[in-house]
Order: sequence, then structure tokens, then C-alpha cells
Amino acid sequence: MNIPLVAVHGYSVSANIREPLDAPRSAVMDEHYKVAISRLGNRVRVAGGAEVGGDIENKNTGALATLYKILQDWFPGAAHLSNGVQEWKGARPMLPDGPPIVGKSGLPGVWLNLGHGSSGWALSCGSARLLADQLQGKSPDIDDAGFSVERLRT
Ligand SMILES: Cc1cc2nc3c(=O)[nH]c(=O)nc-3n(C[C@H](O)[C@H](O)[C@H](O)COP(=O)(O)OP(=O)(O)OC[C@H]3O[C@@H](n4cnc5c(N)ncnc54)[C@H](O)[C@@H]3O)c2cc1C
Repeated sequence: MNIPLVAVHGYSVSANIREPLDAPRSAVMDEHYKVAISRLGNRVRVAGGAEVGGDIENKNTGALATLYKILQDWFPGAAHLSNGVQEWKGARPMLPDGPPIVGKSGLPGVWLNLGHGSSGWALSCGSARLLADQLQGKSPDIDDAGFSVERLRT
């Protein structure tokens, strides 16, 4: 199928907290850099960056350096950065108009659930519920208007 899906890659850095009093207690968004800082138990995670296309294996050291800078700017000394640090590069699979595709592909036996972009985790349970209802031929609890692949066919 020809679906206009593009990976917008981003990064996260997760590290152990050195001093809990210096670390965030809830999520913080740096709107200038579009970077999120969040607390995960005894760890802190800083995430952001947007690269259109490219290769998931090649990490951009500049983008990672920005994450370290922002963590240091907002919460100086909060994390152990000498060991136990995880650097991650992931994809946000984007469609041109925003919402994901959830539903029939038009091919027999093939259903689609893709293109969730930067909210893939948050949308995962609802998308799975919608798809399960569609597969069973039930009237879905979640309105499926606007999630069909047909909207992207010219
Ligand atoms: C920087 C960043 C921040 C994000 N922040 C948020 C957020 O705040 N909220 C939110 O809801 N979502 C967020 N997302 C999106 C979220 O991370 C994704 O939607 C989610 O990780 C997708 O999960 P997945 O299991 O479908 O795919 P992935 O997590 O991409 O996992 C796919 C797995 O399949 C493996 N794989 C790929 N090809 C093959 C193959 N051929 N054979 C075997 N294995 C293969 C990969 O190695 C990978 O482990 C963010 C994404 C990024 C990049």
C-alpha cells in the first residue's frame, strides 16, 4: 500500500536521580526547545528533537547534547550522568494530516493501526479498542470518523 507515512525521529536521555530534592516531581515542558522532562521513580527522562526521515541507527550528537543542556539548565546536578544513562532514538510515524489510520486497509484480511506520531503511547489503548471493535463487526464505542485510510486517497 502507498501510505504517506514519514518517521519523525526524536531522542530521550534517562538517568538515575542523584539528589531527589533537585529533581522534578512532575512533568516540565521547555516550550522554547520543545523538550519534556519527566520523573520516572528514581530516574529522570528528558525527551525531544525532531528529525524528518533519516536513519534510526545514527544518533545526532548535537540533538543529544541539547537534551543534556536542558536537563542541566532546569535541574542542575539532579542526575548521575557518569553511569546508568540510557540514550534512546525513536520514531514518531507521522501522517500528513495528524490523526492515525485505524481500520480497514481495503485489502482482504489486512487492517491498519498506524501513524500515531508523537502520541503513540497515549493513543495505543484507544486505538486497540477501536480496532478490536471493528474486527468483530461491532459498533465501536470510540467514534471512528476521520481515522479511515480513505481520507488520504486522492
Ligand atoms: C522522543 C519521543 C518522545 C515521545 N513521547 C511520547 C509521549 O510523550 N507520549 C506518547 O504517547 N508517545 C510518545 N512518543 C511515541 C511513542 O514512543 C511511540 O508511539 C511508541 O514507542 C510506539 O511503540 P511501538 O511498540 O509501536 O513501536 P516502537 O517503540 O518503535 O518499537 C518497535 C520495535 O520493533 C523493532 N523492529 C523494527 N523493525 C523490526 C524488524 N524488521 N524485525 C524485528 N524487530 C523490529 C524495533 O527495534 C523496536 O524495538 C514519543 C516518541 C519519541 C521518539
